[in-house]
Amino acid sequence: MTKTATSVWNECLSFIKDNIKPQAYKTWFEPIKPIKISGDSLTIQVPSKFFYEWLEEHYIKLLRVALVRELGSDAKLIYDVRMENAYSSSKPHTVKIPSSNRRPMNSQGVTVPMDINRRELKNPFVIPGLQKVKIESQLNPNYNFDSFIEGDSNRLARSASRAVANKPGGTSFNPLLIYGGVGLGKTHLSHAIGVEIKDKYPDKTVLYISSERFTQQFIDSVKSNSRNDFIHFYQMIDVLIIDDVQFLSGKTGTQDVFFHIFNHLHQNGKQVILTSDKAPVDMQDIEQRLLSRFKWGLSAELQPPDYETRVSILQNKLFRDGVEMPDEIVDYIAKYIKSNVRELEGVLVSMIAQASFNRKEFTLSLTKQIVDKFVKNTKREVSIDQIQKVVSSYFDLDVATLQSKTRKRHIVQARQLAMFFAKRMTKASLASIGSQIGKRDHATVLHACKTVGNLTETDKQFRKYVEDLTKKLTY
Ligand code: ADP
Ligand code: MG
Repeated sequence: MTKTATSVWNECLSFIKDNIKPQAYKTWFEPIKPIKISGDSLTIQVPSKFFYEWLEEHYIKLLRVALVRELGSDAKLIYDVRMENAYSSSKPHTVKIPSSNRRPMNSQGVTVPMDINRRELKNPFVIPGLQKVKIESQLNPNYNFDSFIEGDSNRLARSASRAVANKPGGTSFNPLLIYGGVGLGKTHLSHAIGVEIKDKYPDKTVLYISSERFTQQFIDSVKSNSRNDFIHFYQMIDVLIIDDVQFLSGKTGTQDVFFHIFNHLHQNGKQVILTSDKAPVDMQDIEQRLLSRFKWGLSAELQPPDYETRVSILQNKLFRDGVEMPDEIVDYIAKYIKSNVRELEGVLVSMIAQASFNRKEFTLSLTKQIVDKFVKNTKREVSIDQIQKVVSSYFDLDVATLQSKTRKRHIVQARQLAMFFAKRMTKASLASIGSQIGKRDHATVLHACKTVGNLTETDKQFRKYVEDLTKKLTY
């Protein structure tokens, strides 16, 4: 007699029905669909993650007894959660929910079956790893470990990243926070972890997302009344990579929701990877409880690469692009472009473009011209004066009005924006920003930065101001 998923499940149901109240049966068991039986494992489809959690919490014993009667002591139950979510490209899709009691993966990325009779385990059922997940990981395959050149400046961060990629959720590096200045490889390295995990553990759900997008999705979910779906979606991820968390500064709503997602993932042994342009101690306007969690794992710094590493990065890039360049030129670039790998690559790209456009050889004089331009452009730090000018003219005010004591709403907003950008784009202290923008104190500046953060989160028009001004100030 061959058993089908339906026949097994029907037998289970008739047993369950005899043991619980009719209303509970109707609510929690009728909506379940048997999907598949393979060996000792029965797959059932449940309509939501909440549903699955409820079953686990309230009916797991009953389910176990029912299932063991049908399939023997090695019985396993697999939940399929049918999700209709707005956060993934392919929808609807099926996700197998991993359980908090899941056993560690073996080397093939397959869950090691758990002995159903083991007393000490509350949940006897194995929930195998995610198998059919169709969440698009948003990873760039070119950002991998092979293309990430190792040097003294990044050795710790790179090794920690490798360790995490080998055993996601299974090291003490959770969360792993990679921090460092612009263009030093934070995004690259965080992708590399994801790419490697996808390769080693195809069943794991990996998601890369920038903090900006995360924030935007959250705001949209609040607007469309689907905040819970948003949270559930993120709580299902096995490996969550959030880039540039400093962007969450001052965004209390988004921080709050991230806090809950983070706790859930962490408690369930899921891996969280964060990047930031600052060390946790230097992050501003991030809630204390979140900061303290950032420090639970490992914070690894990416420093500007030393000369040898810069040369290797250039040579590697040339090799990949199939371009040959005289050593003295590579040497020249590596000597002068010091602080930023993105610029290092930028110079190469310009050189290659110039040379092929004008059918020129790579010459030292061409190199000097291009390097010069890069060095000049990056030396430019915006001053607080400049910021006040740009903001004033954007709002059609003069600087004196911006600095005045008036409480007119649109002027107050312009002033707050100027303070916000001064904090973000210069190294000036709060007190010095205050004194330069209309002789205010540091508390006023701090308040301005928070207000801008909040308004950016909640007010579309205001967000547009910030975006426009950012463009004006950076280009
Ligand atoms: P960040 O996110 O820190 O601003 P990115 O990860 O975007 O920096 O890196 C900027 C560029 O520099 C990318 O194209 C990246 O591939 C490259 N890069 C950075 N570090 C390295 C490295 N160690 N080896 C090779 N390429 C690197
Ligand atoms: Mg980046």
